[in-house]
Order: sequence, then C-alpha cells, then structure tokens
Amino acid sequence: MRLKNKTALITGGNSGIGLATAKAFIAAGARVAITGRNKATLDAALAELGSDAMALQADATDIAATEQAVAAAVQAFGKLDIVFANAGIPGSTPIGGSRLEVFEQILRTNITGVFFTVQAAAPHLNDGASIILNGSVMSQLGSPGSSAYAASKAGVRGMARVMASELAPRGIRVNVVSPGATRTPIWDGAAPTPEAKAQLEKRLSGIIPLGRLGEAEEIAKTVLFLASDDASNVNGTEIFVDGGSNGSPVGGPVFRG
Ligand code: NDP
Repeated sequence: MRLKNKTALITGGNSGIGLATAKAFIAAGARVAITGRNKATLDAALAELGSDAMALQADATDIAATEQAVAAAVQAFGKLDIVFANAGIPGSTPIGGSRLEVFEQILRTNITGVFFTVQAAAPHLNDGASIILNGSVMSQLGSPGSSAYAASKAGVRGMARVMASELAPRGIRVNVVSPGATRTPIWDGAAPTPEAKAQLEKRLSGIIPLGRLGEAEEIAKTVLFLASDDASNVNGTEIFVDGGSNGSPVGGPVFRG
C-alpha cells in the first residue's frame, strides 16, 4: 500500500481527474478529503469513495472557505501528507471577443485559488509532504482562444518552482502533473451532445501522437506516483501525461503521410 496511513486533500475531487485520483489514493491506503462547489456531486462522490473519504463544500476562489476546508480535513484526519490542487475551469478568451469577468475568473480559479490552497495547507503539512498542482499541455501549445487558460497553467508551472524552493527546507516536494486532452466532464461545455463529443474527440485525437484522449485514471496514476515515496527525489518538475502532445507536437495521425 503506497499511501498507507497518509492523509490527502484534493480540490475538485468530486469530478473527473480529482475523483479518479481520490479513488486511487484510497485504494493505496490513504484517507482523502475532497472539495468542490457542487453539493450534489460531492455527495455522489462521497457515496462512491466510502468511509476513508470526507467531502467539503468549498469554493477554491474563496480564501476563507478554503481555510475552513483545510481546518476540517485536519480536524478529521490530523496533519496532511498530500495536497492535490486540482480544481480548475476551462474558458474561451479570444482576442477581440473576451470579457474581463471571464478572463479573471479563469485566473482566479486556476492560479489564485491554487496558491491560496497551498498557503492554507502549508502550516498543516507534515514534513516530507507532497504537493501536486494540476497544469495542462495547453500552457505549451498556443491553441487559439486560450489566452487566459494557457496563462493560468503556465503560471501554475512557474508557481510550482517557487513553492518547491520555499518548502524544500521542510522536505516538502512540489510538482506539476500536466494532462493532455483527457476524457472528463470538463469538455461538456464545449461539446454538450454525444455527437459533438464524438466529433471533438476525433479532432483532438488527430493531433495526439498516441491517437486518443487520455483517461482520468491515467492522470491519477501519475499523481499517485508523485504523492508517494516512489517520487522521493522528484521535486520542482512537471510531468506531461498527454500521449506525446507536448513532446512530439507534429506526431499525431493528421501529420502522417
Ligand atoms: P472536471 O470539470 O471534471 O473537474 C473540475 C473540478 O474542479 C470539479 O470537481 C469542480 O467541482 C472543481 N472546481 C472548479 N472550480 C472550482 C472552484 N472554484 N472551487 C472548487 N472546486 C472547483 O474537469 P477535469 O477533471 O478534467 O479537470 C481537473 C483539472 O485538470 C483542471 O485543473 C483542468 O484544468 C485540468 N486539465 C484537464 C484536462 C482535460 O482534458 N480534462 C487537460 C489538462 C488539464 P465543482 O464544479 O463542484 O466546483
């Protein structure tokens, strides 16, 4: 059991990658507190995760709510060994068609929320803890219309490096997992019908060297690695789990002769 007796906090643990990671952590022996805004999906996730989990309704953009969630997790479990700052939102912000509110909400959630999650948790972390931030291949790809999202995820990479140096004296490691296109509800807004989803997946698969979207469980396995002692000397780095999108950007099926 790679996470036996470990305690973890996962923001956005009621859906997609966060929920898959909560399952993987619990299967590895951890107790896990998940957060999210949506009470119904938090309840559903808790029912799936069982008695080694607790669910806390907290908006990651609300610093006081984040601090309360951390305090509740620590009260129930004791000090934390793992934080997966995973909560994030997508959003379209093309030049010439973007509103300030949308742009700022993406940054507030994906950067500011991540920073204050780590700040709230820091005093309650055991020495030797592991922090994982969720980045994205979009920080690298220059995909049209993604300025705020790409900037937020590039910011996550920059922040992780600073955090790794600040927390190193306590033996706390900070790393980034950066997914490529992964099959989760995050795509529901862009592709609301099964037909639109199939079309989107086909288009995305064409530019991914392995020719398919990732699964949330594949990200979760990498986060589990980073959280565990198997990654005891991995610090201040970023692992892409993206079928090769970042490393081999012209390796996808559409580029083959
Ligand atoms: P989901 O939409 O399935 O999950 C997003 C999670 O974040 C939900 O649990 C949601 O819960 C939570 N969340 C969003 N905003 C807030 C907030 N303000 N406060 C608290 N929780 C919040 O998407 P994914 O699982 O795909 O996304 C997880 C992370 O992975 C994100 O950071 C995303 O950017 C990143 N990612 C995803 C990729 C993909 O293709 N799926 C690719 C690259 C990166 P609730 O709605 O209840 O608040």
